[in-house]
Amino acid sequence: MKLNTDLLKLSDTDFAAIINKKVSDYQYANPDTVIVRLDNEDAYLPFPNCVHSAMQAALEESLNDPQLRCTPPLRGYPFLIDTIIAHYAEKNIQLFDTEIFINDGAKCDVSGLTELFDGDNTVMITEPFDSVYYHSSLSSGKAVRFVRASEKNGLIPLPPKNERADIIYLCSPCNPTGALYPTEVLKEWVDHALENNSLIIYDASYEDFACMEPNHKSIYSIEGAKKCTVQVCSLSKAAGFANLRLGYTIIPNNIVIDSTRLNQLWLHRERLKFNGVSYVTQRGAQAAFSKEGKEEIEMHVKHYLSNTRLLTEVLVKAGLCDQSFVASPNVWFKCPQNMSSWECFDYILKNTGVVTIPGSIFGSAGEGHMKLTGYTTRENASVAARRLWQLLGSSSETGAVN
Ligand code: PLP
Repeated sequence: MKLNTDLLKLSDTDFAAIINKKVSDYQYANPDTVIVRLDNEDAYLPFPNCVHSAMQAALEESLNDPQLRCTPPLRGYPFLIDTIIAHYAEKNIQLFDTEIFINDGAKCDVSGLTELFDGDNTVMITEPFDSVYYHSSLSSGKAVRFVRASEKNGLIPLPPKNERADIIYLCSPCNPTGALYPTEVLKEWVDHALENNSLIIYDASYEDFACMEPNHKSIYSIEGAKKCTVQVCSLSKAAGFANLRLGYTIIPNNIVIDSTRLNQLWLHRERLKFNGVSYVTQRGAQAAFSKEGKEEIEMHVKHYLSNTRLLTEVLVKAGLCDQSFVASPNVWFKCPQNMSSWECFDYILKNTGVVTIPGSIFGSAGEGHMKLTGYTTRENASVAARRLWQLLGSSSETGAVN
């Protein structure tokens, strides 16, 4: 028997476990320090009240209806698909029910979609990157090339000239950099994909944060995007579904490859590998899209963004970050004094009790950088901002962004 060598090639380092070990060692040595964790990756506030009520009602309903205790429809219940169609209609985007697939979180689809394509295909990933894009591409045998996001391009890379790939991963607002791709830049990527016969897998998991920007538009408002873009969405990042597990993927009917409609092939793949999302969770998600749900999620988003803004301001003042506006819970900054990411992680933890995330875990382009998030209480964000300023304010000269 031979194991999958593509899978064996991947790093299986558990970075969260390394961080947790460092944090517990630090707490042991410094029992009086109140640690502030800015390494949370998901919304921590509870989901909206209407979501709670809808799920409770759905649970009661399923006690009395045997149908609701059976395997759910593969693509999702029509009530949730219709709700999502109505949500996009409000943005003047027309979707059809055959284009929407309810999933148990964006991660499974972001990685699973690569299975639709032969191992000979090439993949382009903007780096620093979420490891899921990279690992799922490698483990399905595909060659990966990178396009670098750096301070030089304001963390927003343009499509490369004279270079193409079959599949392009884009994420906006981006994890880990927090960068929001302006519509004009997305248009360049869409045009590039159309000219080069590429497919964009667009990870919109953080889109609820971008919606705070008055000029923000869905990628599908760009001409031609529905011919080349699959969009993956998550309710983990703003709506509080990280534990409930729900997201959705949009595969437009217009995407046809070698006479096969891509959403038909995805449906086929889903039949083999997926069994749907529970009725209770889908009723909760439906409530999250209601007026009341959206209002509550917006309040949460504003809370996270105000934390993120506070922390960003400190890092900008310290010369380690040049983010001019905040449209994501993620903050990306340069390590002071040319430290490596892990050196900086230790330096910040040891001197402030604040837990951050080493940028190097998002690929080699992340080395020398750090990430933190605004997924915390206002009080913790204020404490962390003060402590970070005390430590990093003096680095302004040596660590300035270049
Ligand atoms: N996409 C990005 C960019 C993420 O950062 C994450 C999770 O951290 C995911 C997708 C996965 O989200 P979900 O919880 O919906 O699987």
